[in-house]
Amino acid sequence: TPAPVSADDLLARREASFADVQEHYFADPPVMVRGWREHLIDTDGRVYLDTLNNVTSVGHAHPRLVEAVAAQWRLLNTNSRFHYPAVVEFSERLAALAPDPLDTVFLVNSGSEAVDLALRLGQAWSGRRDVLAVREAYHGWTYLTDAVSTSIADNPAALQTRPDWVHTVPAPTGDGAYTADAVARVEELAAEGTPVGAFVAETVFGNAGGVMLPDGYLDAVYRAVRAHGGLAIADEVQVGYGRLGEWFWGFEQQGVVPDVIAVAKAMGSGHPLGAVITTREIAERYRTGGYFFSSAGGSPVSSIVGLTVLDIIRDEELQRNAREVGGYLKERLQELGRRHPILAAVHGSGFYLGPEFRRASGEPATAETAAICARLRELGVIAQPTGDHQNILKIKPPMVFTRDSADELVAALDRVLTTGW
Ligand code: PMP
Repeated sequence: TPAPVSADDLLARREASFADVQEHYFADPPVMVRGWREHLIDTDGRVYLDTLNNVTSVGHAHPRLVEAVAAQWRLLNTNSRFHYPAVVEFSERLAALAPDPLDTVFLVNSGSEAVDLALRLGQAWSGRRDVLAVREAYHGWTYLTDAVSTSIADNPAALQTRPDWVHTVPAPTGDGAYTADAVARVEELAAEGTPVGAFVAETVFGNAGGVMLPDGYLDAVYRAVRAHGGLAIADEVQVGYGRLGEWFWGFEQQGVVPDVIAVAKAMGSGHPLGAVITTREIAERYRTGGYFFSSAGGSPVSSIVGLTVLDIIRDEELQRNAREVGGYLKERLQELGRRHPILAAVHGSGFYLGPEFRRASGEPATAETAAICARLRELGVIAQPTGDHQNILKIKPPMVFTRDSADELVAALDRVLTTGW
């Protein structure tokens, strides 16, 4: 048993070896020692309801996943230039999850790597560097993915500091003519001699608070981009893999098929896993444009993790759970909004929900949302804000979240909104 440490000492040591840019949740964070399903347990034995860990898709410490990983570690772990069944089976399973004609898979270790590779496929395909991205987005921290990330919550100077080959359109979070404006931007860039080589967007606006895109948005923008020889990239890192309940992939909600899917997070349930799924033709074109090898991407252990997570999602019907319990939670949150006007809207679908807080004046309730999260934590619920105004909660729990847990979250939020924050 490790010697007990005080939370303050541990935080001081963390801050001594980390840079400020490596943030932590809460000013005085609890020290977490254990996870179980949709719960986290701290050093005091306090149990928290976890509404935040979308990465841990099948729940914390899932016994079936733990056993499968341990068994594979004992047997073999190496890189995918060797030949073994797990990487073949996992690639086949991923390709089968994607619609035709997407049948070719690259295995990497994170969302940043997946989106980075997707953007590079776009460059190789189009022979151009110009990328069109949507504002308020986060796509990763590598050079390319950071360049196309414009969330001002993460980086207040984001829009002023993008390279000149990064172009943006507004996040469709309000009532604007977003579809027509985005298509017009694609045409304008072509007319200016910098046609879009790749268009990258989350298929449901996770980072903006689980906001659904306007009907027909991706269809119109994908068509315009393809008409000028560019690629349509779907960033499914946050919202894909069954979490939306109604759809396995976010792009299904829009009735489109992208050219490239980037996926990560949920596929490893916390183990570093990412993938790009694309067409054979696009993947082959990359041969001429770049190098690809990943030491741990598609390793036997990573592949077994990926296969086991997919088995668990199927056997425990977690997508159905996301639809049913997520739908129930959304209704209960909407009902809460009718009694507490500060809860102005509930965005999202399934287990990607975004309750949004606004003042009576209509302004984003940014400070209030932070205070509500602090109070929720005191009540044993872990929740965090998202969006450019940090006034929307990102409710994206492990997909094993139960109806009782939904009731517990609503009761805690009701109490905070009733008694004050
Ligand atoms: N794309 C989106 C939409 C994301 O939310 C994230 C992570 N928050 C990433 C890409 C990057 O993923 P990772 O942290 O695994 O590198």
